[in-house]
Amino acid sequence: MSQEGAQEQSDRKKYEFRKVIEDLKDYDGSGTQLVTIYIPDDRQISDVVQHVTQEHSEAANIKSKQTRTAVQDALTSIKDRLRYYDTYPPDNGIVLFSGAVDSGGGRTEMVTKVLESPPQPIESFRYHCDSDFLTEPLEEMLADKGLYGLIVLDRREANVGWLKGKRIEPVKSASSLVPGKQRKGGQSAQRFARLRLEAIDNFYQEVAGMANDLFVPQRHEIDGILVGGPSPTKDEFLDGDYLHHELQDEVLGKFDVAYTDESGLKDLVDNAEDALADAEVMKDKKVMEEFFEELNAGDLATYGFEQTRRNLMMGSVDRLLISEDLRKDVITYECPECDTTEREVVDRRKSTPTHTCTECGTDVEGSEDAREDAIDHLIEIAEQRGTETKFISTDFEKGEQLLNAFGGFAGLLRYSTGV
Ligand SMILES: [Zn+2]
Repeated sequence: MSQEGAQEQSDRKKYEFRKVIEDLKDYDGSGTQLVTIYIPDDRQISDVVQHVTQEHSEAANIKSKQTRTAVQDALTSIKDRLRYYDTYPPDNGIVLFSGAVDSGGGRTEMVTKVLESPPQPIESFRYHCDSDFLTEPLEEMLADKGLYGLIVLDRREANVGWLKGKRIEPVKSASSLVPGKQRKGGQSAQRFARLRLEAIDNFYQEVAGMANDLFVPQRHEIDGILVGGPSPTKDEFLDGDYLHHELQDEVLGKFDVAYTDESGLKDLVDNAEDALADAEVMKDKKVMEEFFEELNAGDLATYGFEQTRRNLMMGSVDRLLISEDLRKDVITYECPECDTTEREVVDRRKSTPTHTCTECGTDVEGSEDAREDAIDHLIEIAEQRGTETKFISTDFEKGEQLLNAFGGFAGLLRYSTGV
């Protein structure tokens, strides 16, 4: 799969996950009876089954009969689901949710959800039984975006690594042979200073080499590079153009850090928090600027569900823009009198309205079967037509406008269609 394809897949997956999480968060268990299990992909399924079996027998000690039954039912349901897997879970692991939730009117309903292959690897096994489902680790994963290169250095030591979402991965380190400022007796001051500068230059080259080896192969996916260290080391390093020129262009900023060991990488990320937040929103900003330019002065912009959909069907959309905060369904109506097909977009929590055919005025009842998630509906067409989908955050003005003024859907076109 191409990088872009993989990115799209993960955007779509993130959207699917976000929806499930929103539903799960709405549920309440009437006691401590909702079970959540996070399973990393290197954990054997048989181990997990054993763990669940153990929990099942321990649940026999729960005093309240209702809670006891509910927990045991949840665990049985989870065990049933685990049967679908071979030795190990799929890549990045799985998360299982199961339990009896309040369905109103004093009744409960059994809910079981399985999420496979989250956008990032599940790092540790977790078993959680509480009055609500444990969704935070997944939510954190979904909030995670971006790939950043990290470099920390002083004149003695350097570390390079990655920031992937919220995870810091130290990769390589180096230490220098730069002598201290104190020269030994018998050395001329000039010669000592020259040797010292040479050693510093050599070390910067070594650090740059390390960073280039790591970052250059992924320079097209990198969202930015952060450089940390004391002054003037990081300034010398950046001003001296040691880094590959394409990497140099990706440097988001330089930051003071107290340490240059692995803990310095964490320091760097903490201190760069604002720059990172800006960088994340910057990508969305650029696309929206382009959209507004086309809207005002060009003819390659489209917006609104129906127009965007028509353009998508024609294959004329280059990038489909969807507001991250949009939660809408689309209902398709077939008029029984004149065969006209029309659609209405409604709030996800609203019931299905009756539609009046614009061709012949017949009232058409909406059916639940003809109702689906509006985003899924458009993404599916986009995928068939080779259109890239971008989710746009609402954390900036033009992003908010996409949601509020343009219905949450827009597109940048490959060519003008007049639609
Ligand atoms: Zn009609």
